[in-house]
Amino acid sequence: MSELLRVQNLKKHFPIYKGAVFPKKTGAVQAVDGISLTVNKGETLGLVGESGCGKSTAGRTILKLLDPTEGQIIYKGQDITNVKGEELRKLRKEMQLIFQDPYASLNPRKTIEQTVTEPMKIFGMSKEKRQQKLDRLLEVVGLDTYHKYRYPHEFSGGQRQRIGIARALALDPELIICDEPVSALDVSIQAQVINLMEDLQKEFNLTYIFIAHDLSVVHHISDRVAVMYLGEIVEIGEVEELYGDPKHPYTKALLSSIPEARPVEKRERIMLQGDLPSPSNPPQGCKFHTRCPWAEDICKQKKPVLKQVPGAEHQVACHLVKEVVEETEPTPV
Ligand code: SF4
Repeated sequence: MSELLRVQNLKKHFPIYKGAVFPKKTGAVQAVDGISLTVNKGETLGLVGESGCGKSTAGRTILKLLDPTEGQIIYKGQDITNVKGEELRKLRKEMQLIFQDPYASLNPRKTIEQTVTEPMKIFGMSKEKRQQKLDRLLEVVGLDTYHKYRYPHEFSGGQRQRIGIARALALDPELIICDEPVSALDVSIQAQVINLMEDLQKEFNLTYIFIAHDLSVVHHISDRVAVMYLGEIVEIGEVEELYGDPKHPYTKALLSSIPEARPVEKRERIMLQGDLPSPSNPPQGCKFHTRCPWAEDICKQKKPVLKQVPGAEHQVACHLVKEVVEETEPTPV
């Protein structure tokens, strides 16, 4: 598979100002703090972590909905970190977002026809083509053509997410960032929407970055997974390898919380102590040391970097994982 997207040392910090008359910068919320990854054409990269770990901000920064503070975003070999104006507008066609809350993301005063065809109109598609495309999109997402005359409140949650997906597909994108696309839906509906997304990926050769906190859903849909903690990637690798043999203590704790399909096969549950520290004042050294059951003195002083696990499509950032290659600098996987 060829590389579609490469992110190098991407940071998104939100400045904190104090003072009403002469506001002074007093710090920053380090929402995304130096992530590196690649996404290949046609694959799904899952992005997981607790609420507040920076995964949604990372997705929005990659999409250029937020300006990066530092780092590089390379899309199809082109540096798009600082693109603006017409170039950015063209890029919007190729990179789309599916939102978590389908109801909040749809304008209640617009019919489905207006909502889905709006981006086509902005990009100058003729009325006839818009109508043909709208009918086709409604068909592929499992809705009927007469639904186009209706308003969002007339649909169920699952149907509204299908409309959101149709809108995301309106401009034939290549990369779609799916930000918790099924977490607001009932479990039975979640499965239908996930299956639909998998079918659409095959049909339109789509590439997904799938952001979610539900580890079972991520396991099902992803080819590779990146685990985020306090704005950093602590482990990234091929999905079966990472779920079958997690290396980082945080990943182990996250995965130990997945309910067992067969409760007789008991898995040891790792309970993390304390809350996620504030991203405006993260711990020194390893950011996870305040909650890590295996933390040692070095963890408080030295920040671990992502290192390759030999013979595997797997990188981990932890001082105590001994099988990582010590000398080589990591390359984004
Ligand atoms: Fe835990 Fe230390 Fe590894 Fe961080 S570097 S995850 S604190 S063992």
